[in-house]
Amino acid sequence: MQLHFYGAARTVTGSCFMLEDGQRVLVDVGMFQGSVEKRNYKHFPFDPSEVDVLILTHSHIDHIGLLPKLVKHGFSGEIYATRATREISEHMLHDSAKVQEEEAYTLTKKNLRKGLPVVRPLYTADDVKECFRLKWRSIEYGQTVSLDSIDFTFRNAGHVLGSAFVEINTGRKFVFSGDIGERGRLIINDPDFPPESDYLIVESTYGDRNHRSVEGSIDELRRAIVHAFEKGGNVLIPSFALERTQEILYILHTFYRKGELPECEIFLDSPLAIDITEIFANHPELYNKETAEEAKHGNPFYIPNLTFTKSVDESREINEVKSHAIIIAGSGMCTGGRIKHHLKHNLWRKESSVVFVGYQVKGTLGRRIIDGARKIRIYGEEIAVKAEVYTINGFSAHAGRDYLIEWATKSDAERIFVVHGEFEKSQKLASALRSHFDCVIPEWRQSFSV
Ligand SMILES: [Zn+2]
Repeated sequence: MQLHFYGAARTVTGSCFMLEDGQRVLVDVGMFQGSVEKRNYKHFPFDPSEVDVLILTHSHIDHIGLLPKLVKHGFSGEIYATRATREISEHMLHDSAKVQEEEAYTLTKKNLRKGLPVVRPLYTADDVKECFRLKWRSIEYGQTVSLDSIDFTFRNAGHVLGSAFVEINTGRKFVFSGDIGERGRLIINDPDFPPESDYLIVESTYGDRNHRSVEGSIDELRRAIVHAFEKGGNVLIPSFALERTQEILYILHTFYRKGELPECEIFLDSPLAIDITEIFANHPELYNKETAEEAKHGNPFYIPNLTFTKSVDESREINEVKSHAIIIAGSGMCTGGRIKHHLKHNLWRKESSVVFVGYQVKGTLGRRIIDGARKIRIYGEEIAVKAEVYTINGFSAHAGRDYLIEWATKSDAERIFVVHGEFEKSQKLASALRSHFDCVIPEWRQSFSV
């Protein structure tokens, strides 16, 4: 039997692994992002029409983002995912197609002026629609699916709503971690532990460090909001559409229920985040105990003064609000989306605050702001950074180093493949695991006989 590493090998993005033994089982088909994004345009190193089964661990673009390309190149097999993963994926992929189409349009305009050819998008909204004409099978946590020569079981990965890790039994037992969440997360349950297995394929996003506590971060957020309103400004929260936005709404909801939320208006200014929040509200069976308790009193993401602004006109109207507004908008690292407009209107005002609640990758606008830039450029205009800037680090969706080690150790695997991490982070996790396990950090497109 062969195990192929087609992505997320010595990088964080592009998760894609194949088990091949007569049947071809693909686990995730993620998009490459950042410095390796050119890989998205390469041919798949396999024939998509020969893939029998696709298993999706969760709905982040670096795990599902090349599905439309897979389908365009001939994949017509069955897709296994949790119901929440399927529902969120549909919105994520349509949003991704929009980004691809817009980028191709802008590049084409530039190319034509230089006498260069038209740029085609990686995929379009029509390609995304084709993906949802295929047969999707909804799998619950704990449910086992038996096919010809294999069976597989989904377990809760505690990373985002509907996220799973998967045990695949071919006679030998494999566990693919997908992405593993930290313990004590808001909204969803802690991850299950892996069973004893022969091979473990484990993520290492934070193979080198642990996180601060969620409780401390909630306190920091409360103080940041109160302080900004005392100064008479607004609070901007650049946020990722999936999970982080719902966590922030949930926290604001609990502030409101406890009478701790100052008088304010709250705007969720992201069509994608609005759609995903609706999916969260429709899946109370996936809530942890605290959130389920909160849900007894009604929708745990509801706040009376919360406005969903879907249209561009509604979004523009927020510019008129000069104080006592909390504006949650994408993108999480300020690389695009509506947050850039809000930064333009607030960043130069010393009475406003910008609160970063997610990791800011080097080279992004968000990173430049938290690194202390005095001036930045937004849409060709120079903007002074006078607003107060907060970085709150305790909301990570990924397990920190200690928990990853504890989690991986439970597998008691004969061999552990460390994936889904920058190489140095994978090395740090691997070196901790090597005292007990045979540990490998596969290279991109490397294959192993197992
Ligand atoms: Zn993920």
